[in-house]
Amino acid sequence: MDEVFLEETGGYIFALLLISIVLFFYLRGKSRTSKKNVKKIEEAKNLGLFEPVSLHPFVNENICIGSGACIEACPEKDILAIVNGRATTVNASRCVGHGACFHACPVQAIALYIGTEKRGVDLPHVSQEFETNVPMLFIAGELGGMGLIKNAVEQGKQAVIYLNKKLKKDHKAQFDVIVVGSGPAGISATLKSAEYGLKYKTLEQDTIGGTVYSFPRSKIVMTSPMDLPLLGKVKLVETNKDELITIWSDVISKNNIKIDENEKVESIVKEGEIFKVTTDKGDYTSFSVILAIGRRGSPRKLGVLGENKKKVFYRLLEPEHIDNQKILVVGGGDSAIESAILLAHGSNTVHLSYRAEAFSRIKPKNLENINSYSQSGKLQLLLSTNVVEIKDESVVLNRGGNSEDLFEIENDLVYIFAGGELPVKFLEKAGVRITKKFGEAILSHK
Ligand SMILES: Cc1cc2nc3c(=O)[nH]c(=O)nc-3n(C[C@H](O)[C@H](O)[C@H](O)COP(=O)(O)OP(=O)(O)OC[C@H]3O[C@@H](n4cnc5c(N)ncnc54)[C@H](O)[C@@H]3O)c2cc1C
Repeated sequence: MDEVFLEETGGYIFALLLISIVLFFYLRGKSRTSKKNVKKIEEAKNLGLFEPVSLHPFVNENICIGSGACIEACPEKDILAIVNGRATTVNASRCVGHGACFHACPVQAIALYIGTEKRGVDLPHVSQEFETNVPMLFIAGELGGMGLIKNAVEQGKQAVIYLNKKLKKDHKAQFDVIVVGSGPAGISATLKSAEYGLKYKTLEQDTIGGTVYSFPRSKIVMTSPMDLPLLGKVKLVETNKDELITIWSDVISKNNIKIDENEKVESIVKEGEIFKVTTDKGDYTSFSVILAIGRRGSPRKLGVLGENKKKVFYRLLEPEHIDNQKILVVGGGDSAIESAILLAHGSNTVHLSYRAEAFSRIKPKNLENINSYSQSGKLQLLLSTNVVEIKDESVVLNRGGNSEDLFEIENDLVYIFAGGELPVKFLEKAGVRITKKFGEAILSHK
């Protein structure tokens, strides 16, 4: 009897020991992951990536069970992580608002918010029909607060359906509608306008495709099936930039749709019942306007002689294809530094001009990299310099803002990263009412 008892007790003790060991390693693993993630949060805070700039997940800690389903579902990297058994945001500023985390959470602990207590986000007032407080001025796409390609396409189309109902047939303007921007929202609005036979004009400061055009070629683009005017259902879930741009370009060319690229809208003023739209190339009048300009704004220009030359760019796509060129990069922020470094390969000659005497408020890694590239002669730093004139085969700069102290460098390409003008000012000038949102749920289970 005693032997059986001892044997049974021994078995229990062994099982208990085994469970304790497994539990110990499991908890230790969790605690290590937590520590790693706390470190990632600290890094994100240092790099200014922690505070969200637009839509982002908000995790209700009282409900979250730490399943990690949200992290697995998120198509972008390191937006969410588990700390102390609960999901939390890490690089919230990189969230593009897929909402996959919201749908994946098994206990409905996630909502999608815009703005936080600390950082408010400016949002224009728009009705359910996408009309602003200025009658016949519409906003479609990400500018209205909701990101994603599919939403932008849908909103562009809906805005035209609504404005078409309110259109006066005998107005005196040149156009029924002017669409500003040709990202997913602007393309969709343009296609719908053409389908209705409206007199339309679409103005794009850059190239067709909007934000999608500037995605890296290798990026996987997540989307949902969407209904594109003049084409029908596009059944895509996982795709890439090239495929999307090809679909849009094909439907645009097959239907003889005209989009005016490289024409920036500078102001929109309502005169009576007609809008006067002023661009960097001319003036137009229209009975209605759709703003589909996204939230990324317009690149700030230097305002120097020769800046309108074809060799001047405000974003860098595919630096690996640029070789054997004399390049000037202008700016002192992370984008300028990262671009200069990406271009400093092969037989390129790269100069980086920055008006201040030292870089400040940039990622520590970028500072380290730029210093090491400069010391090893891979690129030339031109600190305390300003561009004065861009010529066909050279650029003239001055030192320390001194108009007497000029010098000239040979040049084939210029990349300018002087920050951006946010759409808010543009909207205010057009009379659109804007409110700051300090943490408001855009998508929640309540
Ligand atoms: C890194 C990153 C990854 C993303 N990944 C995805 C993803 O996988 N899936 C997804 O669905 N969404 C993704 N998004 C979000 C998606 O790109 C945007 O929600 C979508 O492009 C918004 O479309 P839009 O037409 O409203 O604006 P945009 O695409 O931003 O287009 C606005 C257009 O307006 C033009 N414009 C601006 N001002 C003027 C002016 N004054 N005059 C003339 N033209 C002007 C701009 O040049 C631009 O072409 C991602 C975004 C980023 C930044």
